[in-house]
Amino acid sequence: MLFTEDFLHYVWKFRLFDRINLQTTQGEELEIYSTGLHNTHAGPDFQNARIRIGETTWAGNAELHLSSSDWQRHGHTADNAYDNVILHVVYRDDEPLFRTDGRRVPTLELKDRISPDLYNRYHNLIFGAKTIIPCEASIATVDGLTMQNWLTRILVERLEKKSETVIATLNLNRGDWEETFYQFLAANFGFKTNALPFELMAKSLPQNILAKHKNNLMQIEALIFGQAGFLDEDFTDEYPRSLKKEYEFLKKKFNLTPIESHLWKFLRMRPQNFPTIRLAQFAALVVQSNHLFSKVLETKEVKALRDLFNNIQINNYWETHYRFDKESKPVGKHLGVASVDTILLNTVALFLFSYGKHLQQQYFISRSLKLLENIPGEQNSIMTDFANLGLEINTAFESQALLELKNNYCDYKKCLQCGVGIKILKPA
Ligand code: SF4
Repeated sequence: MLFTEDFLHYVWKFRLFDRINLQTTQGEELEIYSTGLHNTHAGPDFQNARIRIGETTWAGNAELHLSSSDWQRHGHTADNAYDNVILHVVYRDDEPLFRTDGRRVPTLELKDRISPDLYNRYHNLIFGAKTIIPCEASIATVDGLTMQNWLTRILVERLEKKSETVIATLNLNRGDWEETFYQFLAANFGFKTNALPFELMAKSLPQNILAKHKNNLMQIEALIFGQAGFLDEDFTDEYPRSLKKEYEFLKKKFNLTPIESHLWKFLRMRPQNFPTIRLAQFAALVVQSNHLFSKVLETKEVKALRDLFNNIQINNYWETHYRFDKESKPVGKHLGVASVDTILLNTVALFLFSYGKHLQQQYFISRSLKLLENIPGEQNSIMTDFANLGLEINTAFESQALLELKNNYCDYKKCLQCGVGIKILKPA
């Protein structure tokens, strides 16, 4: 038989072994009241188990191994953390186990107590030939409620991990949520390609400087384009010449240092996504929306949240330009629906969740999840694969959860820790 300790954990945790006439390997009667709490950190595998051996009821830890000799191999004999193990659960009992005081450690052998059917299903799931994910033949058969509960759980896991970065940045910003939101939002405006220079630009230009000029789009653009390193040239058009002049004054006034302009990428991008256009949109948003994070917190309706980013009025110059000094056909340069969705998904929903988690306010966590339910699901090769397996993916709630599932469970074959895998393997 080919299986892992994970499978043994799964069998023990869900009591999927023959429990009739249970006995220790020394022939004492055994009854399991509780298998204990699965411990994925250091120390015994299951904590606070409750069992009866003979006439005595014990409460303590259970340790699991494929062979009883693994106890010695894993160095548990000299480790005090294993002193209160009340039961050693093994697939095969290949050698007796003694405590330091010479007493035998009670052992349960499961070799003849696991059904071949369960083993075959497990083997087929983990070791069978697959093209996309291990459970590809069965995932579409899992009932909607199980799927929904599991997707919710892993979506929360994903957001919890991502919010650690938010809180780390919040700490660097001394608890200033507005500044932190502004920096993340800027990175989001750079989308994948220009996220780094956008973030560096925002970090080089604190909000309190922008706030001093918040009613003047021209000065805000001068600060933003200047700090982005785009105003360090000689221009022909009047507009960038004015920005440059304004920036030179503000740069001295606030003792600013711009970032390196070579960090920005234009190559293989649609002109609509050029960083110059994104910076102009970002500048307009700064002017239009004071204390944006407070507004996000106050704005309950999804449509109203969307409106915070829709219809940003950028400077007319950009209607006929994608770059300074290069005229083009007039085209509107509003943020498109897909861009607003990306901002709502990557920044707004993440911040609602992080804020709720940090302040332990479920209300904001729920709003974050509700927002994700109202954003269309992303389209990428992973979603195409899941759709081909028969899953319906309509919202970002689903697509984000499935991304987490694929990247952190399926790819590592963590099927025995996955709600879908547990359901598929569970005996009918
Ligand atoms: S981790 Fe879950 S969803 Fe992924 S292949 Fe395994 S059982 Fe299926």
